[in-house]
Amino acid sequence: MVRKFKTIPEKIRIGSHIFYIKFVNRVDESEDLLGRIQWSDNTIRIDNSLDQTRAECILLHEILHGVKFLTGFSDNVKNIPDNEVEELIISRIDGVLYQILKDNKLAFVEDSK
Ligand SMILES: [Zn+2]
Repeated sequence: MVRKFKTIPEKIRIGSHIFYIKFVNRVDESEDLLGRIQWSDNTIRIDNSLDQTRAECILLHEILHGVKFLTGFSDNVKNIPDNEVEELIISRIDGVLYQILKDNKLAFVEDSK
């Protein structure tokens, strides 16, 4: 399969899950979306009409939905003092985001060779 953009891999690993990245004409039949991460079939769908930069941003957006799901950071922050919420959220995200960027070599940099 030919990749649409060199900077976007065919699949990525988020935690222990492999997601296949698909460029589609319509991300969702009922909603107007540019991207969606779907856990039921391990796909990240991205609107086919986007240029490279927008597609990369949408991929990151969907990855962050995956990070949120894996870390469960928004489950309950009601009982946590406001000044601790930011540190809590970021400290839950950092390790997972690091794994995703590192394992998938996601730098969004074109190979200059
Ligand atoms: Zn979103």
